[in-house]
Amino acid sequence: MSNAKLRRNTPQRKIILEELRAVTTHPTAAELYDLVRRRLPRVSLGTVYRNLEVLHQDGMIRKLEFAGAEARFDGTTTEHYHVRCRQCGRIEDIPELGPDSGPVQPAQLAGFRIEGHRLEYVGLCPACQTTEPALH
Ligand code: ZN
Ligand code: MN
Repeated sequence: MSNAKLRRNTPQRKIILEELRAVTTHPTAAELYDLVRRRLPRVSLGTVYRNLEVLHQDGMIRKLEFAGAEARFDGTTTEHYHVRCRQCGRIEDIPELGPDSGPVQPAQLAGFRIEGHRLEYVGLCPACQTTEPALH
């Protein structure tokens, strides 16, 4: 059974979600905290962190994790790809690639000079599937 159905969205969490969905910058928790504080002056960074984790667990947002970099958050949950600057960590969306589309064109890469790419599938291995119920 999904926890998302049982969990009430608090007014705070709703505002955090709204602020994340209002930007396309893939903010870190601290960056989102600065945005959220304009509407919730008394909110703490810890509260923003906790609510982002809950929203992520419930599938309401995406969490972008890269080795050696702070996690960033994305209010767009539909499947899409990103291009990331290895220097400043900035992340941009790559427009949707269909099964019939060829390689990504330079014009789709937000002006980045591309140095390489990685593709990572994440999921549960067969052994872990027997111990963890499906999330949704
Ligand atoms: Zn950069
Ligand atoms: Mn994105």
